[in-house]
Amino acid sequence: MPELPEVESVLRTLQECPPVLPGRMINSVIVLSDTVISGCPVANFTGELEGMLFSSIARHGKYLIFRMIRPGVGCSGSFLVFHLRMTGRLFLVPREHSIERHTRLVLILDNDLALRFDDPRKFGRVWLAANPADVLSKLGPDALTVTPEIFRSRISALQRKIKPLLLDQSFLAGIGNIYADEILFRAGIHPLTSSRDLTPFDIERLCNAIRDILSDAVESNGANIDGVFGKGRFVVSVYGREGLSCSRCGSTIIKIRVGQRGTHVCQVCQPFL
Ligand SMILES: [Zn+2]
Repeated sequence: MPELPEVESVLRTLQECPPVLPGRMINSVIVLSDTVISGCPVANFTGELEGMLFSSIARHGKYLIFRMIRPGVGCSGSFLVFHLRMTGRLFLVPREHSIERHTRLVLILDNDLALRFDDPRKFGRVWLAANPADVLSKLGPDALTVTPEIFRSRISALQRKIKPLLLDQSFLAGIGNIYADEILFRAGIHPLTSSRDLTPFDIERLCNAIRDILSDAVESNGANIDGVFGKGRFVVSVYGREGLSCSRCGSTIIKIRVGQRGTHVCQVCQPFL
C-alpha cells in the first residue's frame, strides 16, 4: 500500500477537489527529513522549487508526476516525482496547520495553502528531475492503460511465475500485493502458474482482470486495508481473507507464500494445473 488505484485517488483529489493544486505557486520549502529527497542535494531541491508553479499532474504506476514551470521563463520546467511507498501521504492543508511527528516535507504555497508529505515509515521518496524518464526509465507500461496487444507481446516473451511477474514493476507498473491477488482470483489463475503455461485464452482473461480490477478500484478510491487509506471503498475478494469462504464457490481461502509474499488463493476457483 498504496498501489496504483490509491495513487490515482491521490492524484484526483489534488487535481479535482477544491482547492486544487494546479496553478498554485511554491513560496517556500521546508524539508524535515533529508532522506526523503532523492537525486540531488537538499539545498538544490529547495532552491530550485521556490517560485515554481504546479502546472499539471500525471501518474505512472505508483509514481505521481507533477509538471512544474517557472512563470515568465518560456517553456523551461522540471518534474517533481513522488513515490509514496508503504505509508506516504500527500495532501493539501491550510498553511497554518501544525507540522506533525511524521511530516517529512512541506511545500508552502500561495493562497494560504501547503502541500504536505507525511510518512511514518520514511520509505517514501521525492525527486526533482528535468525529465521524468530520469526517474521512471526502468518501469514497464502502466498497468491501467497497457493495451492488450502490448500485454500479450510482453508476457509471451517471458517464463516466470505469474504472481512475481505481476509484482515486477519493470514488467507492468502499478500492481502490488493486494491487487495481484485480486487480479489472479478474478482471472481464475493460480499464483504459482508459469507464464509459459498460460493459454491465449488465459492471457486474455488475465489482461481483462487487470483492467477490470484496477478500474473498479480506481472508481472506489482504492482499498482501505487496515485503516491505512480511509477513503477507499474497494471490496477485496481474497486478499487478507484466509480462513473465510470464497464468495464464488464457498470453499475456504488459503494463504500461501509466493516469492516471499503472503498470497491469498481459492484452490477451487484458481486450480494449480
Ligand atoms: Zn472459490
